[in-house]
Amino acid sequence: MAASLDWTRGFSLDFSLQNGRSQGVEATARRLSQMGDMYFDTAAAQAAIQNEDPLIYEFYELGAPQSAGDLAFGTSIIYAGKVGDEYYMTKGHFHTILDTSEVYYCMAGKGAMLTESPEGDTILHELTPGQALYVPPRYAHRSINTGKETLVTFFVFRGDAGHDYGTIETKGYRKLLVERDGKPTLIDNPRWR
Ligand code: ZN
Repeated sequence: MAASLDWTRGFSLDFSLQNGRSQGVEATARRLSQMGDMYFDTAAAQAAIQNEDPLIYEFYELGAPQSAGDLAFGTSIIYAGKVGDEYYMTKGHFHTILDTSEVYYCMAGKGAMLTESPEGDTILHELTPGQALYVPPRYAHRSINTGKETLVTFFVFRGDAGHDYGTIETKGYRKLLVERDGKPTLIDNPRWR
């Protein structure tokens, strides 16, 4: 973490439009082995972990104060690839304070944001460069790279919102985005519980 992030008096930070990277601040990496059994094709996931344990995504968490008046922000960088026929994606999460929202801005690449309410309302939003996306309160959100280039988004959410990964880890999403006949296709998750 760079020492120059002054959350009391303010700061500015450069994120590359091309790859979402920032000088002097470290990104957090997520490899396939760190994603539990989130991918539907567990055999393909195990084989990939044995082989090279691919880097699926990275993100910048800048250590924003966890208060309602602060805004946490950063970039998320999702690499291109698939596990079986399921695209590389983030774990996805609800916010611990469920009633908080988030804004995403797509800087590079091509993909989708899969959002899902606890009641099962599922919406797939497209992500293309220049597009801003509002994830309303109560909806889990997961970024998915459906393209051939790295997908880069900038995000902002309330500082105290918190991340609830556990619900997705145990229940999964109701829907999965997989490639069928060369196209992204939303299917029911047979393992959802
Ligand atoms: Zn979020």
